[in-house]
Amino acid sequence: MSTIIYPSPIFGPVHSRRLGISLGINLLPADGKVCSFDCIYCECGFNADHRPTKPMPRRQEVAEALEAKLKDMLANGPAPDVLTFAGNGEPTVNPEFPEIIDDTLRLRDKYFPNAKVSVLSNSTMIHRQAVHDALMRVDNNILKLDTVDPIYINKVDRPCGHYDVNQVIEDLKRFNGHVIIQTMFMKGDHSDNTGEAYVGPWLEAVRQIAPSQVMIYTIDRETPDRLLQKATHEELDAIRDRVIAMGIPCTASY
Ligand code: SF4
Repeated sequence: MSTIIYPSPIFGPVHSRRLGISLGINLLPADGKVCSFDCIYCECGFNADHRPTKPMPRRQEVAEALEAKLKDMLANGPAPDVLTFAGNGEPTVNPEFPEIIDDTLRLRDKYFPNAKVSVLSNSTMIHRQAVHDALMRVDNNILKLDTVDPIYINKVDRPCGHYDVNQVIEDLKRFNGHVIIQTMFMKGDHSDNTGEAYVGPWLEAVRQIAPSQVMIYTIDRETPDRLLQKATHEELDAIRDRVIAMGIPCTASY
């Protein structure tokens, strides 16, 4: 199976239709995955199959590698459209995440002031005030909420520790709209969150959170659970249109 383990702490840039030229910042170890979820659709594979031996990168190492890469991109191109925190797991579990965000914003302002800073996170650490405050400072605070059903969450996202979805929704509300909700819709042998029993309560949570935007998507690459299937274009479009009908911008990626 071809799952992806990214270089650390900097990878790319990669060109994506949605984000443009994106420089990746990976705050997890270079030789494995660290995540507070263990999603059955994770493109990095299952946690147990990719236990790292190396440590997470430290703040200074990230800043030095990022500055060297940005200098090179300034001299030789291409100019990044976005600096994206993603990679081998959950970026906010790095204990220096808030300070690394500050370094990144400073370096972005110095080298590419027009580039956006985006964070892709699974929302498990947003109860920490320092993480919340750091996410308030980035341009695109993209947080996962796949469903509000605890049984589905335990089957699909598979939190590694305590996870209370109602508390997460309360914490998402605390961003006062400075949040983009990202949701994976898909089907499998034991999972399908495209039906009304899942979509209706999820829409109600989205309405309460009142994010600036919602991004819905489906599986794209090979997944550790081989039985997963994509949600259809029609299903995604119908969900997207219901979000838009609430007055919240929404995009669907197939
Ligand atoms: S939250 Fe993201 S990195 Fe973590 S297991 Fe799920 S898909 Fe993978």
